[in-house]
Amino acid sequence: MGRAKKTQKTLTLSQLKQKLFYYRALADTYEAIQKLRIACSNRLTAIHKLGLDEEEKLRERTLSSIVDELLEQEKRIIKIVKEILKEIPIYNEFLKKIKGIGPALSLRLLSINWDLNKKLSDWNAYAGLVPYVYKCKCQKGHKLLLPYNPEKRKEEIKCYVITEREKKKKGGSIILDREKMKRCGAPVRIGEIAPCRKHSGYKIFWNPKAKKTLWLISTSLAKSGKFYKIFYEYWREKYLKEKLSLPHAVARAKRKVAKLFLAHFYEAWHEIEGMSYELPYQFEYLKHSPDRLLDWKIIIKVEEGEIEIEDFEEFEKEVSESKSEDKEKMEKVLKK
Ligand SMILES: [Zn+2]
Repeated sequence: MGRAKKTQKTLTLSQLKQKLFYYRALADTYEAIQKLRIACSNRLTAIHKLGLDEEEKLRERTLSSIVDELLEQEKRIIKIVKEILKEIPIYNEFLKKIKGIGPALSLRLLSINWDLNKKLSDWNAYAGLVPYVYKCKCQKGHKLLLPYNPEKRKEEIKCYVITEREKKKKGGSIILDREKMKRCGAPVRIGEIAPCRKHSGYKIFWNPKAKKTLWLISTSLAKSGKFYKIFYEYWREKYLKEKLSLPHAVARAKRKVAKLFLAHFYEAWHEIEGMSYELPYQFEYLKHSPDRLLDWKIIIKVEEGEIEIEDFEEFEKEVSESKSEDKEKMEKVLKK
């Protein structure tokens, strides 16, 4: 029994969306457990640092058994997650091959409600990966941030502030209090340009979870990635040479990693699902050819060791110069 190999299932996009929606709870649980486990471990370390008396020794034993149990729980969830991911093409063909992105980060990324019908610039805004924001006000007086200048848009920009809350009471206490998806819709007037972060009193347009996830991903890639680590280090050094402070250079280089990774994820997912897509007019990733994005398939070749990068600038130059040639030829050049 059970020796027959399961045939690999491939889900349709809408089935996949449904599944991921369902598994979002799993990703949330995993994060909650991990957070608790890290907090317990930190407390343990603190106890050790202070030196132990009898009472603390007892506390340590209890704590460390809790840490072990939590770790077991995490492992159990990861096992389920790996099973889920097996049937997801974007995981098998892209995420799984990227060094520095494990099943937990993959699930986290995939459980975000990415809309494949939207443009990459919308995805960037959704993940808070824009250089500036505009502090705006709608005609009804709502304060809101926008990723672009509403005055420079052909179409009228409508206020996205949610105006209705759904409340349920039971026995005098509120059991449900959440925003309903009814938006204000009043025209937005221009405010002032500001750095991309939260501004007191203003509604944000990005999804905090998407933003946090991209930050976690770029941190992991900068530390233990392959291609993306090279890319990160290249930009970090460049920013340092421009006399940026180290924390500032690190943050900017990580942001660059996040944007490039998201673009590859976007590209790959559309291609794998056979959907057409448009890339923004200008890309800022390549020094020699700023309007061109490094192809995600080339990145996979780097990840899998088919292409070695000795010098990032050289690599970038070669990719850019072969721009007009067909892809196969370009890949041959890169293999040499
Ligand atoms: Zn409004």
